[in-house]
Amino acid sequence: MKTAKDARQSQSIVEKDRENVWHHISQYNDKKQPVVVTEGKGAWITDYAGNKYLDGMSGLWCVNVGYGREELARAAYEQMQQMAYTSMTQSHVPGIELAEKLNELLDDDYMIFYSNSGSDANEVAFKIARQYHQQNGEPARHKFISRYRAYHGGSLGALSATGQALRKYKYEPLTSGFLHVSPPDNYRRPAGVSVKEYNLQRAQELEDKIVWEQAETVAGVIMEPLITGGGILIPDRVYVEKVQEICKKHGVLLIIDEVICGFGRTGKMFGHQHFDIKPDMVTMAKGLTSAYLPLSVTAVRKDIYKTFEDNGENSHFRHVNTFGGNPAACALALKNIEIMERENLVGRSAVLGERLQQELAELADHPFVGDVRGLGFLMGIEMVEDKNTKKPASPDRVNKIISDCKASGLIIGKNGDTVAGYNNILAICPPLSCTDEDLAFIISVVKKVFKENAS
Ligand code: PMP
Repeated sequence: MKTAKDARQSQSIVEKDRENVWHHISQYNDKKQPVVVTEGKGAWITDYAGNKYLDGMSGLWCVNVGYGREELARAAYEQMQQMAYTSMTQSHVPGIELAEKLNELLDDDYMIFYSNSGSDANEVAFKIARQYHQQNGEPARHKFISRYRAYHGGSLGALSATGQALRKYKYEPLTSGFLHVSPPDNYRRPAGVSVKEYNLQRAQELEDKIVWEQAETVAGVIMEPLITGGGILIPDRVYVEKVQEICKKHGVLLIIDEVICGFGRTGKMFGHQHFDIKPDMVTMAKGLTSAYLPLSVTAVRKDIYKTFEDNGENSHFRHVNTFGGNPAACALALKNIEIMERENLVGRSAVLGERLQQELAELADHPFVGDVRGLGFLMGIEMVEDKNTKKPASPDRVNKIISDCKASGLIIGKNGDTVAGYNNILAICPPLSCTDEDLAFIISVVKKVFKENAS
């Protein structure tokens, strides 16, 4: 008689996957065929069936140095052998060296707090901000303002900061005290308003919100240097710099989420370095280890840290997590940054990104392309049904481009905000280590697929 064990043994890996693994963003009996990825080298991945794809999304915008880096595996291996674990209630050499290195890259004086994921890093930033204000004599400051369309994570606090309703509404009630304002979306700004004027209006919307909420209740503003997952929305520099000015004026901390933009993605080591700002906190994850191991960071300005001094009250930051700052992950992150510097991947991101944008700029003439935009190796193509009305392209039209690219061996992404109807923005975000041939491949596939889908 066949046992359940026998039945399991005769299953293919894909069947086992269907039986046992609940994929992220999926449902029961999902019609999508699971893709079991078995290998990664450079910018390319191979699935179980032997299909090869250029990963034009670097996984989830994270494998910045590309796949298959033996040096990274070795750095983790050696650290695991030397000393596999100590919690960050104590310390260890790679954690110290990485913190020092991050300060050098940030070009400022921060304390580095380690966690595991981008969501964690943002949660830590919220908790530090609230406690900072309490200890600084302003206990009423507890609210956070972020932007609609932004994504800041899946845990309840980070999800509260997220500005995409579809990701949130089934999990209500979320954490109270999180408010949203509109981001600059330059492509969709009102006719007759200059980019600069429009960006100043969006910054004014933020200031109005702070004032209406009563500034003395607002703890922080969290934003990405440019909105990534919400549709590659690149602000004018006047916006970002004005936001910092407004935060300072009202005693509100500015938290910059570098989870995607960090580590070279936008052509600078950190996205906020395109602007003349000094954030109070910076959160990072993904590209920090190129996702070879989980690790994230909340970098906190020293003057904030100083309010956590023992003043007779309990001033500990009462937050601990088991895996944050894992020594092997820190050793790997140091090696990851070393590779980026040695191969000048940040400079390469700027140069290749520029080339990609120049090449794809010609898509602007395509009947279903409204806007082509990008910064560094982070590119967005906004698809529309009608160039004049800018009506977002239908899901079928957008998905067809994605599946045709995949059929030609190129993975690209889609993002935006479904509720607002803006799930119409394609993302291209390949490893920064792409070769010239890889880049030529991306350009030729995207151009070919758009050409074939022009009616
Ligand atoms: N912030 C941003 C900007 C992100 O894009 C993400 C994840 N895509 C997060 C935070 C959350 O990171 P994680 O998935 O590692 O929790």
